[in-house]
Amino acid sequence: MALVVQKYGGTSVGSIERIKNVAQRVVATKNQGNQVVAVLSAMSGETDRLINLANEIDPEHSRREYDVLVASGEQVSISLLAMAIEALGEKAISFLGSQVVIRTDSDHSRARIQDIEGDRIKEALTGGFIVVVAGFQGVDEDGNITTLGRGGSDTSAVAVATALTADVCEIYTDVDGVYTTDPNICKEARKLHKISYDEMLELASLGAKVLQNRSVEFAQKYGIPIHVRSSFSDIEGTIVCKEDESMEKAIVSGVAYNKNEAKVTIRGIPDRPGIAASIFSAIAEEGIVVDMIIQNTSAEGLTDLTFTVPKLDYDHAISALHKINQEIDASEIDGDKNIAKVSIVGIGMRTHASVAGRMFTALSQENINILMISTSEIKVSCVIAEKYTELAVRVLHQEFELAKDTTDES
Ligand code: ADP
Ligand code: ASP
Ligand code: MG
Repeated sequence: MALVVQKYGGTSVGSIERIKNVAQRVVATKNQGNQVVAVLSAMSGETDRLINLANEIDPEHSRREYDVLVASGEQVSISLLAMAIEALGEKAISFLGSQVVIRTDSDHSRARIQDIEGDRIKEALTGGFIVVVAGFQGVDEDGNITTLGRGGSDTSAVAVATALTADVCEIYTDVDGVYTTDPNICKEARKLHKISYDEMLELASLGAKVLQNRSVEFAQKYGIPIHVRSSFSDIEGTIVCKEDESMEKAIVSGVAYNKNEAKVTIRGIPDRPGIAASIFSAIAEEGIVVDMIIQNTSAEGLTDLTFTVPKLDYDHAISALHKINQEIDASEIDGDKNIAKVSIVGIGMRTHASVAGRMFTALSQENINILMISTSEIKVSCVIAEKYTELAVRVLHQEFELAKDTTDES
């Protein structure tokens, strides 16, 4: 008898009809002779709705109370699914993160899972129940409710699969796998049969929201393959697993974009030791995570510094900089929220030169100006004006011939 963990995302449980559809799938999996644990997201749109309510009360609300609020979305979906399964004549029981127990650190709104007890799940499975677990949430050592960051149910599912040493971990979503880029903005996007953890981690970290990046980190650490597939059909999806021979051939295997960052520019700061330290300490004290950083060469002892932060933290970042401006003596602090980061990712880049050059040429041929650049062993990212995002994604997809399958697997 196999133990199957299935995660269903917001769209898959977005209406009563869809919850009933998930109930049928889960029961069918059980009837094939498996034990089943379903990990759920909130119904689609619900988490956004709750976040908007919090912002209406106070945009600077506490992160502890934010977690109490947004975790409620998953409480609704798990109970409804358990009822829908019972209505089909099967035994079902739902558990919150604190009942499982999914123990996390206390970093509210972006907590990390530390360990999962899971005894209650095991007992229920042995008793013949289908177990339904709330994704996205956990509990810290003081009993406070925590959440794992947007898209966190993916991570809950992989962590639960690890803790239970499940045979299969399936992520059911509204697309039928991981594509060479977001199929909702590029119709030439091609479904990948397999993708390495390293590439998936880069794509997810660079904006491909089909999997939360922490879920991939987790899966890689514990060697759990993830099967990403559609909750609306039975076709095979994409396996995220360890790198193998057939994957090496693609120089670039995917294009990702992220519209959730903003650019901050500080002009005319003295070019001397300690200035960058003051700036980034002030930003870090606000709990803001900085992504790309560029410092210009100095002219007449003055320099400019540009960096990106999550859009949600932009106002905080600007006010933190104004607070320390006496110390850093900048002539101007400003920024731009209308930017996007487009990135190309591929393990084949390790051994191929000129990939970055091809990317810049392709963008320039469409007159898309590059505002910032960053590279790593297997990715190149460019910050551009937000309005060109979709065009840039399509142009890069075409330039690197991603619609064509270059691996042995097809
Ligand atoms: P869920 O609610 O099931 O967790 P998400 O909305 O979080 O679903 O993730 C699925 C979405 O990810 C897709 O609808 C698609 O628009 C987007 N996406 C972005 N990049 C990719 C990609 N490379 N492959 C597949 N989907 C992608
Ligand atoms: N409901 C949460 C969100 O919308 C978690 C998830 O869907 O994975 O971010
Ligand atoms: Mg998601």
